[in-house]
Amino acid sequence: MSAKYPYSCARCGYCCNQTPCKIAKEAALHFEGVILQDGQRCPYLKFEGALAVCGPARRSSMLCVALGIGQGCCTRAWVVNGEKSTPFASLHPDDKRAVVAAVRAGAVKVMEKAEWKDNPGLKRLTENMVEVL
Ligand code: SF4
Ligand code: SF4
Repeated sequence: MSAKYPYSCARCGYCCNQTPCKIAKEAALHFEGVILQDGQRCPYLKFEGALAVCGPARRSSMLCVALGIGQGCCTRAWVVNGEKSTPFASLHPDDKRAVVAAVRAGAVKVMEKAEWKDNPGLKRLTENMVEVL
C-alpha cells in the first residue's frame, strides 16, 4: 500500500480499465489461450454502478490479497485540467470514480505517453495521463 496518498482503493477501476494485471494475463492465457496486451482493458473487469468488480478476486480472497485489492492506490496517471496536473492516486474516491465514469462515457480523453512526450509543459509526467476536457 502506498503511504504517499491518503485514500485507500476507491474501486474506481481506472487501473484495470487501462491495462490488465499480471494475474489477468496469466488467467487469460491459461484458461482461454488469449494473450492480453498492455494498454488494453482487462476482460475480467466489470462494473456494478460506479464500483469496479474484479472477476477473479470475487472468487478468491487469496487473489484479493495477491492483487492488492482494497489496499492503496499507486496508479501512475495524472489528471490534467488546463495548467493544473494532479496525481490520479491522490484524488478523493468520489473524484476518481467520477473521472472513470467520464472516461467510460467518452467525455474525457486518456492520453498515452507517446501523445504528450513532446509537449514541453508536460515533460515531468512519466506515465499516462487523463485530460479533463
Ligand atoms: S483507486 Fe487506484 S488502485 Fe483502486 S481501482 Fe482506482 S486506480 Fe485502481
Ligand atoms: S484481473 Fe482483476 S485486478 Fe487484474 S486487471 Fe483484471 S479486474 Fe483488475
